[in-house]
Amino acid sequence: MFDNLSVKLDKAFKNLKGQGRITEINVATTVKEIRRALIDADVNFKVAKEVTDSIKEKALGQDVLIAVSPGQLLTKIVSEELTELMGGRTEEINLKGDPNVILISGLQGSGKTTFSGKLARHLKAQNRNVLLVACDIYRPAAIDQLKVLGEQIEVDVYAEPDNKDALKIAKNALKYAKENNKKTIIVDTAGRLAVDEQMMNEIEALKKGLNPAETLFVVDSMTGQDAVNTAKTFNDRLDFNGVVLTKLDGDTRGGAALTIRKVVDKPIKFISSGEKLDALDVFHPDRMANRILG
Ligand code: GDP
Repeated sequence: MFDNLSVKLDKAFKNLKGQGRITEINVATTVKEIRRALIDADVNFKVAKEVTDSIKEKALGQDVLIAVSPGQLLTKIVSEELTELMGGRTEEINLKGDPNVILISGLQGSGKTTFSGKLARHLKAQNRNVLLVACDIYRPAAIDQLKVLGEQIEVDVYAEPDNKDALKIAKNALKYAKENNKKTIIVDTAGRLAVDEQMMNEIEALKKGLNPAETLFVVDSMTGQDAVNTAKTFNDRLDFNGVVLTKLDGDTRGGAALTIRKVVDKPIKFISSGEKLDALDVFHPDRMANRILG
């Protein structure tokens, strides 16, 4: 991912090769190419314009006597702007509460169940006693999927296959957690193929009833601007704490990673780059910016 963007940004910086100093003209040409590269990466026009206006302003405001080439200077400014665009700093998940409740939301197929398993593995590695809770009451296969994941990572899975009340299941799981010294419960929920009222009501009721310390929204990064729009819709209803971007191993152009923070005003907390359970990383905006700039 980001390959195209990296290549195009590199090409934009090449315009400055051999130029002794920053001028209005060479900056304008480079910034225009950067803007086009961002739009091609599925960054929305308004965000791309804001970012490149800021890059231009910073570049022209620099002292021309400093001992770096215009290319190096622009690369540094773009790196800082992209880092800022993606949130600036790493944001940890909230592990408050005893037990600490983490609610997982998102559309069907976004990678919620897989992520729940990965997060359980991640927290178990920090010596937390974790319980996975199967609250996808519509897809019996989702319960089995979670059980298989739980077995692989040796984490207990709480499920009530015959109960069709997600909130009741989650509350029973909370009770079970207290009785069994589980410190973190991860609640995997049902998703639909598209946003619908029933799903929104249900996840909203789960959030109200459980009062989780952390509600995460899982989204497939391959869906580009749709990912950003879905995030906005979920956030309007759920006021979630953070975003999990999945399928970064696919041929995503990167727009969701670059814009979600700016449009939704919630941090990306994890990224997932594969189906395997170890394919999960805490999101670091600066590292991602460096990766983009190669
Ligand atoms: P859910 O319906 O939201 O619970 O989604 P699932 O967890 O069942 O994931 C849907 C599909 O996407 C499954 O085939 C997963 O193996 C796959 N998947 C999940 N995360 C990733 C990822 O980061 N990369 C790739 N390539 N596939 C993923």
